[in-house]
Amino acid sequence: MADAPDLAELERRATGRGPEYGADAHIVCDNLVRIYQTQGVEVIALQGLDLLVASGEMIALVGASGSGKSTLLNILAGLDVPTAGVARVAGADLLDMSGRDRLRFRRELVGFVWQQTSRNLLPYLTAAENVEMPMRFAGRRRASRRARAESLLDLMGIGHRASARPAEMSGGEQQRVAIAVAVANEPKVVLADEPTGELDTSTGAEVFGALRRANRELGVTTVIVTHDPDVAGNVDRTVGIRDGRTSSEILRRATRHASGHVEIVAEEYAVLDRAGRLQLPREFTTSLSMKDRVRLALETDHIGVWPDRSDDDHR
Ligand code: ADP
Ligand code: MG
Repeated sequence: MADAPDLAELERRATGRGPEYGADAHIVCDNLVRIYQTQGVEVIALQGLDLLVASGEMIALVGASGSGKSTLLNILAGLDVPTAGVARVAGADLLDMSGRDRLRFRRELVGFVWQQTSRNLLPYLTAAENVEMPMRFAGRRRASRRARAESLLDLMGIGHRASARPAEMSGGEQQRVAIAVAVANEPKVVLADEPTGELDTSTGAEVFGALRRANRELGVTTVIVTHDPDVAGNVDRTVGIRDGRTSSEILRRATRHASGHVEIVAEEYAVLDRAGRLQLPREFTTSLSMKDRVRLALETDHIGVWPDRSDDDHR
């Protein structure tokens, strides 16, 4: 009898995708699953989520409350461990990591910005001292710490608030200091969970501008969870999460018209998952009364989807 194919081989046959999936991406989630168990009840927060983010990219994650956005971000930050699947950030395997490596990962490779301004900063330290703090832990010399804290606060547009304490600053200023803290130790990735959630629209836009500058000037890969639809216009890509899976993507690209005018065009895509599944938008399926099954036809350059008419034929 021939040897049974191993699991990886079965997986490759089933999905048509080999182990090279996301080999060159900076953040890789492949069939990521997170199940919470509380008092005997299981909650499937992530159910086979796929996501690739390129190095230096800035993306927004959007989705209804409870769709799994914070769960995903906490996993990428090394704060929570997935139940199954693959999660790799900057080459680190988040499912298979010693406690010591996890600590090093959190200190050196990722920076985090929380929604609650009070959670990001120490209240008894000035803005500059807050930015210096992670560099102190990393053993960086005093003069170099000072210089870097100053230049990061300048980059965030709040150099003039360097000696203010959090209570003396507005919410938007505090969040911009928090971004400087997050990038102080030159992480590869910055993760922000609704960083503008407690701010009004114009202050939120300033905080987004600061994240954008950190992303562009420092080359740090950036993932932002947001409810703010306007903010989605400031990022390279918006990824929609529905029921613990990536369901849609909006890509922005620049098109140059004959007149020389450059227009940014946003196009919405459905995500095709590893097994070939895709989620049709509810508006589309209801407007054509599609349910249970549809008919597919392969055309030369597209696939057609038709409502099931088999019941009509039998009448
Ligand atoms: P979002 O950030 O998109 O609002 P979350 O990731 O916080 O969503 O939550 C996804 C689902 O997982 C929700 O149903 C939530 O109740 C559940 N959940 C999140 N964290 C926990 C936890 N620590 N224990 C049990 N259930 C949790
Ligand atoms: Mg959340």
